Amino acid sequence: MYQKPKGTRDLFDKELRRLQAMNAAARDFFTRNGYEEIRTPSFEFAALFDRSIGTTTDIVEHEIYRFEVNKKTYALRPEGTASVLRAFIENKLTLPARFLYICSMYRRERPQKGRYREFQQIGIELLGENKPFFDAEIIDQGKRYLVLIGAKDFTIELNSIGCPDCRGKYREKLGSFLQNHMTDLCSDCKRRFERNFLRIFDCKKETCQRVYDEAPKITDNLCHECAEHYHKVKEYLNQFGIDYAENKKLVRGLDYYTRTVFEFKHGGLGAQDTIIAGGRYDLLMRELGGQDTPCTGWAMGPERLLLTMSEDLPVLDQKETFYIAGMGERYITKIVRLRDQIQGKGHRCLLGDPGEPIKIQVKRANKCNATYTVIYGEDEEKNGYYTVKNMQLGEQQKVLIQEFDAFLANVRGK
Ligand code: ATP
Ligand code: MG
Repeated sequence: MYQKPKGTRDLFDKELRRLQAMNAAARDFFTRNGYEEIRTPSFEFAALFDRSIGTTTDIVEHEIYRFEVNKKTYALRPEGTASVLRAFIENKLTLPARFLYICSMYRRERPQKGRYREFQQIGIELLGENKPFFDAEIIDQGKRYLVLIGAKDFTIELNSIGCPDCRGKYREKLGSFLQNHMTDLCSDCKRRFERNFLRIFDCKKETCQRVYDEAPKITDNLCHECAEHYHKVKEYLNQFGIDYAENKKLVRGLDYYTRTVFEFKHGGLGAQDTIIAGGRYDLLMRELGGQDTPCTGWAMGPERLLLTMSEDLPVLDQKETFYIAGMGERYITKIVRLRDQIQGKGHRCLLGDPGEPIKIQVKRANKCNATYTVIYGEDEEKNGYYTVKNMQLGEQQKVLIQEFDAFLANVRGK
């Protein structure tokens, strides 16, 4: 017996259908908002991620699947942004550009509920806009999408982590504060402070967090431009009618963020409570060899989000399943056309073998979870109607052939 690798999943049946419905809704919604889908390779040269995500981040230090072939080092993609920018530069695309990606990501993490080693992300990136209006706009996109698919009870946390200018001065201030608290910090944090100091705020240990509650925050130490930018983002969010909470300890686990960072959280998820995470990354394009280009974006974990939602997604295809039981092989041409008519109205439709007795076909219809079985035989042919059996109620009705289109448009199986 073979087993799938730890942290991976087989997706099928209801969960896959729900994920597909979320993807379809995302494609439809974000295209209507100007975001074009982009597909990049599922593996890249590892250097791309080392450079963009940062060598001192959890992702690059522990989570990347790296492999070497012919002395070249590759990595399964752990996130989408770096690849999108690489593709933008490499294909000489033009600004402003809006991208949507929907694909699997790979991270070697400890698997738990809502945390897998291969997982899906739906993400959007807006390249070439530096105005705070667009920070608010992409947050609004995330919120409207969640509302569209029926997600509830999420909150939005917001912060600004400034630019290298404000961070330099702030680092000194934080350093002198921490000097007196070094004994309370875990060894990870001591190391982080040296190599990637903002990320100490990400520490999960309560003893460290108690120190950081009292520590000076980057948000209160922004340079004039960053402070103004942040102020405007909040003002626009208010105008968009978006509720948010400021979280001065929100930093994000990747190196490339500047200024605005945000997370959408869900209360019912326990430790893995972030469903959307993102922010502004004005320095990354340059870092990857492109022109100076301000960018914002976010990524969502649809599998995690599904854990918070009841069985019924409003966007799920609510159409019915039909099963056609022809009574005799001479009706094949007729039932194939009937199938096309039913599918043309957006319903699912399966064919029975018209050579089989009707009883057996109806049994099969049941096994296929058909909501309706359409029976077509001699009497139906002679009198121009279909016999439609409602499988849940067990009731039959005659529907005239010329009224069948109208019937299909209005049916509700339950
Ligand atoms: P976390 O703090 O949960 O590890 P992260 O900062 O690593 O999150 P991002 O890299 O910003 O997460 O990814 C964006 C979103 O992708 C997350 O908010 C989450 O919904 C989803 N996500 C990230 N890692 C996983 C995973 N291993 N399994 C499932 N979903 C994930
Ligand atoms: Mg993570």
